[in-house]
Amino acid sequence: MSAPASTAKESATLLIVYEEEDARERLRKIFEDAGYRALTVSDAPAALRIIHLEPCDLVVLDLEIPGVDALALCRLLRAQPATSTMPVVVLSDSSAESRKADAFAAGADDFITKPSNPDELVSRVTSQLRSAQREWDLIGSNRELRFLADLGRDLLRAIEPEQLVRRVAGSTYEGTGAVLCAAFVTLSTDSETGCVFDREGSAEDTSLIHLERLQKWLASEGASAPILMTDKQNFFLREDLHLVEYAVPLRFGGRAQGALVVAFDRREDLGETECRLVDAAAQQAALASHISSLYQAARESSTTLAKEVDRRTAEAEAQRRFTEAIIDSLPLSLYAVDSEYRIVAWNRNRELGELGIPRGSALGKNIFNVLTLQNREVLSEEFARVFESGEIERIEQEATRANGEIKHWLISKIPMRIDNSGGVSHVIAVGEDITTRVEANQAVARAEKLAAIGRLAAGVVHEINNPLATISACAEALESRLQEGAFSKIETAGALDDLREYLGLIRSETFRCKSITNGLLDFSRARASEHALLDLADVIHSAARLLAHQQRDRHVDFQIQTPNDPLPPLSGDAGQLQQAIIALATNAVDAMPYGGTLTISARYEGGDVLVEVSDTGVGIAPENIAKIFEPFFTTKEVGRGTGLGLAVCYGILTEHGGSLDVQSTPGIGTTFTITLPAVKEIGESKA
Ligand code: ADP
Ligand code: MG
Repeated sequence: MSAPASTAKESATLLIVYEEEDARERLRKIFEDAGYRALTVSDAPAALRIIHLEPCDLVVLDLEIPGVDALALCRLLRAQPATSTMPVVVLSDSSAESRKADAFAAGADDFITKPSNPDELVSRVTSQLRSAQREWDLIGSNRELRFLADLGRDLLRAIEPEQLVRRVAGSTYEGTGAVLCAAFVTLSTDSETGCVFDREGSAEDTSLIHLERLQKWLASEGASAPILMTDKQNFFLREDLHLVEYAVPLRFGGRAQGALVVAFDRREDLGETECRLVDAAAQQAALASHISSLYQAARESSTTLAKEVDRRTAEAEAQRRFTEAIIDSLPLSLYAVDSEYRIVAWNRNRELGELGIPRGSALGKNIFNVLTLQNREVLSEEFARVFESGEIERIEQEATRANGEIKHWLISKIPMRIDNSGGVSHVIAVGEDITTRVEANQAVARAEKLAAIGRLAAGVVHEINNPLATISACAEALESRLQEGAFSKIETAGALDDLREYLGLIRSETFRCKSITNGLLDFSRARASEHALLDLADVIHSAARLLAHQQRDRHVDFQIQTPNDPLPPLSGDAGQLQQAIIALATNAVDAMPYGGTLTISARYEGGDVLVEVSDTGVGIAPENIAKIFEPFFTTKEVGRGTGLGLAVCYGILTEHGGSLDVQSTPGIGTTFTITLPAVKEIGESKA
């Protein structure tokens, strides 16, 4: 099927096929007078030849031509694509109905009986030309519509610039019958995409495009409208054969972001229809490329966004782990609750120990449901106070562990504000084990107290010993004088007896005072000792000998347990250490008035020499344990105890860098443990 050679009646070309020359010329004259161009032939072969050489718009065919049957020619024209829609008007001598029917069946468009009226002839040919033109127009717009619909649908799916240029170039190449077709877009400054369909219809990249020239044009003012070029100098496509180019800018929002270029070998191949198609395709492509650029931008920003989110998440996670490591490394047990009393932090130390709870069982839970061993009312009051006042609360607590060990804790409840303007949002509870500090403080206080008492005792002893010596000397002198009868003049024998008795009393009480002052002296002297290397086993054995000697009348069984190998040496004052062991053993014997076993044992353990003095006596009441080391504390009857034994012991051992501990169960017995540091290397003394 080909387009009518001419669209207007004035310039239409008619082919007249008529054997008889006169009639043929008459017909030519009629049509030429009517403004048509008329070609004439006398038979069918000549007609076919001329149709192939020159485009005709209509055939006027005489049914009576010689040779090939006119109806056969008619059928042939219909069968060939190039002439299938060309109107054929037949002229016939016969007006028989059967003749007409044959003619229409062979494809004729009109049937005129001779002789015909010239006016009728012209008007019927004109009418045929018009309807052919209308049909052609219809076919043309159908084709355009289909092309645009197909392209639109294709572009909807072309979201990537590469797909877009390929589809536009491909469809336009097909739709216009161009020999070359190129589509090109620049969506951002650094991305140019193009596609060219060449003569063979294969797609290529931008190598066939004069990119610089094209971009220069797109940047110029000229790119506001399509451009038709016949000067090869200016062509956008690198190819020598084509003679005409038509380029349409892809404009959107005032910017030419690409172009659609078609090329033809002949100027007449680029008709109005082709231009319209390319214009419409360019419009659609401009919109699609705008959408594509939006999509690219959205995709880019979503990738950046995703990367940014990933980066921030990783950062936050690292920060969280860091913070967690900090609170886990603190030598404190720590947890935090929010204003709903939900646990939001729980460090590693809070997981450890007897009262430790795993983090997993605590986080996110209500604090009162987790710390069930604590008094709920007290705990909630403490928290409430901190939330309300915003001030730190500190409490010292004492806890006895399962093994009887006493632990001291400093519990702080610290208010926390997430933003500075608001109220307390969280409370951090921190528990610090201050046992060592508390014990050290207690030891220092005790040592200071003992030192003060020691100084006092030394002073008192110094002042009292002299008068005591005088008093006892006087009493003894008077007694001997009494014996010599110096007081025989005293009248009554009763008075003499009184005198004797009183003197005896003075002497014994003075003695008692002496033993107290001697004890005080020991106590104050505990600090002024002379150290030498010694084996504690020797000290124990000599103490035991003295004890056995003193306690001969008691029913106490003595056990001495020292290791066979010599103990590591330690540096100390043998006399003082012996005194300490004797003091402990004496107390033990005193605690077993009805007999029992006294065991003194020694061993080496972890760099220290340990001596245990244990008895099976009455034991010490728990409330007295803290007091027994105080000077003058005694539970013994007046005259029997001075309450200085343990105080002296304690002083001696502290002075030796050691310690004295006690463990006692009333009714079962008591064990005192002396711990003294061994000398690590001979010659190195710790004193
Ligand atoms: P004293 O023996 O003069 O009373 P100490 O300082 O030696 O003074 O002892 C103080 C107190 O400690 C004793 O009175 C006694 O109550 C108690 N005590 C010391 N050792 C023992 C022991 N082995 N068994 C029971 N109680 C003891
Ligand atoms: Mg004693």
